[in-house]
Amino acid sequence: MNVLVAGGAGYIGSVCVEQLCDAGHVVTVLDNLTEGHRSAVDPRARFVGVCLSDRETVLKTVRASGAEAILHFAANALVGESMTDPGKYFRNNVAAGLNLLDAAVIAGVRKFVFSSTCATYGQPERVPMTEDLPQRPINPYGESKLMFERMLSWYRQIHGLEFVAFRYFNAAGASTRFGEHHRVETHLIPNVLKVALGQATHCEIYGTDYPTHDGTCVRDYIHVADLADAHIRALEPGRSGFYNLGNGSGYSVREVIAACERVSGRPIRAIEKPRRPGDPPRLVADASKARRELGWEPRIPRIEDIVASAWAWHQAHPSGYPD
Ligand code: UDP
Repeated sequence: MNVLVAGGAGYIGSVCVEQLCDAGHVVTVLDNLTEGHRSAVDPRARFVGVCLSDRETVLKTVRASGAEAILHFAANALVGESMTDPGKYFRNNVAAGLNLLDAAVIAGVRKFVFSSTCATYGQPERVPMTEDLPQRPINPYGESKLMFERMLSWYRQIHGLEFVAFRYFNAAGASTRFGEHHRVETHLIPNVLKVALGQATHCEIYGTDYPTHDGTCVRDYIHVADLADAHIRALEPGRSGFYNLGNGSGYSVREVIAACERVSGRPIRAIEKPRRPGDPPRLVADASKARRELGWEPRIPRIEDIVASAWAWHQAHPSGYPD
């Protein structure tokens, strides 16, 4: 299939492009490289440097690509940043994203696959979380993704654009070739592994007074290759709707640090800090809908294996991507 991947130079997008190429799809990557990296784009894919805010060029690129499906990964995705700069999230994730959605309709693209997030749920009423829980975001990042989900529903009803929206839990790990490199790193696992690599003296724990078993936030870490695999399945005809993607098991910040120590065999100093605004205490997926309807099954569910893949990638790429 002919597929256009917006944000294909970013962390999750790059691994998805790799799997799409492996599966024989013809891939065009559209990315403005503010967060992504040119060398994270699989050489088998065609690269076009475009910003989603450039409506005319986005439409031209979508038309020229002949895409039958669009995978949309391009977004800002930091909870903490969204609490200080909400406008960036509404501008880039909603307004600029809408240009891509409109281009899909105008160009007659058959399917739109969207990267959503468990942050759309806010503080969940219960965990593990199913897709039917109320969505009440507690940060602008989650709100921006929920707004896009709503636009998708209206566009399906009014324009007949089929979509699959995946609510990711915490993406982690790496493929052999492609991994996690943010220019400003705020995510837990890469920050903890920086200490193991000797690039930082310590990591920080944001909040130790949460109502969880050890006082630190609990998250559901899901391997990036398992996320990518769900996207390939979403391209099959007849697949549509909202799906959680997670392993169904939660790990606290302290447990993640301990796993990084075990995998790297190195001690990791952690300093306790106040809570980071916008963080819910506990987010764990019930992904049985994706298992049932997409035949999706995480292949790397264990936290040690997830961390080990990240560790291998960071050891091979201590400075991340060259650009
Ligand atoms: N966290 C932390 N120290 C860090 C980075 C993150 O304690 O250096 C915590 C953060 O508060 C959250 C969890 O680890 O509870 C996962 O954060 P991350 O930024 O990796 O992903 P998010 O859940 O925000 O998508």
